[in-house]
Amino acid sequence: MYEVLAVRYATYAGRTRRDNLLRPDGHLDAPYPLDFFVWVVRNAERTIVVDTGFDEREARRRERSTTHPPREALAMAGVDASAVQDVIVPHLHFDHAGGIEEFPNATFHVQDAEMAFATGRYMTHRHFAHAFSAEVVCDMVRAVFQGRVRFHDGTDEIAPNVTVHRTGGHSAGLQVVRVLTRTGWLVLASDACHLYQNLREENPFPLICHLGDMYEAFRTVRKLATAPGLIIPGHDPLVMLNYPPLRADTADTVVRLDVMPVISPPL
Ligand SMILES: [Zn+2]
Repeated sequence: MYEVLAVRYATYAGRTRRDNLLRPDGHLDAPYPLDFFVWVVRNAERTIVVDTGFDEREARRRERSTTHPPREALAMAGVDASAVQDVIVPHLHFDHAGGIEEFPNATFHVQDAEMAFATGRYMTHRHFAHAFSAEVVCDMVRAVFQGRVRFHDGTDEIAPNVTVHRTGGHSAGLQVVRVLTRTGWLVLASDACHLYQNLREENPFPLICHLGDMYEAFRTVRKLATAPGLIIPGHDPLVMLNYPPLRADTADTVVRLDVMPVISPPL
């Protein structure tokens, strides 16, 4: 069994309901902020990081800021990025695969379909390309040539009781992570559902590669988790409110997902 942590390194207030829901409800221009996380899966034998977040280069380019750079936020969770050996990259969007040089000893776990998507013909369309960064993708390609990427095709085991599952939908090779915890099988859904509302109402986030796969992904994450409350959306600010902090002094950055929530997730 594993301890699972949500590590919040950034927030972004500049989004609205219209931006976050394919079928926006009520007040289309009402603010609907997003949080940005990296995740830690660990036990006595191993520490796995899920997601590397966005780096300073992309933050500057896109006029975003971090509350703590991911490396620093991970350190607050007791994780030394330079010692991590396994990093699961849910997909290659700029905010999920940046700064991989912070993990010099890691193998990066990526789906075949995601690398093909991020380096193929669809990137000639701005609709798909704008969520990627050529530099971030090139860094991962360089890691391929250094023998530091392990490719997966669909479902695969990363470690005992830690598996990845390709859902596609939001990005062609999006993968979610299933982990055994003391409360059951927990699913780090990444952008299969950015927000609880996306999943609860089957109302997708409107950045879409394949809409049918996106709807199928909602079913997949529900099937993989022991209970709906064990599905963790990729960008929902409620995650920080629902779960208890790892430590009081880092309460605004690190919460524990492998224990009972303080507030039941709205699913
Ligand atoms: Zn994404």
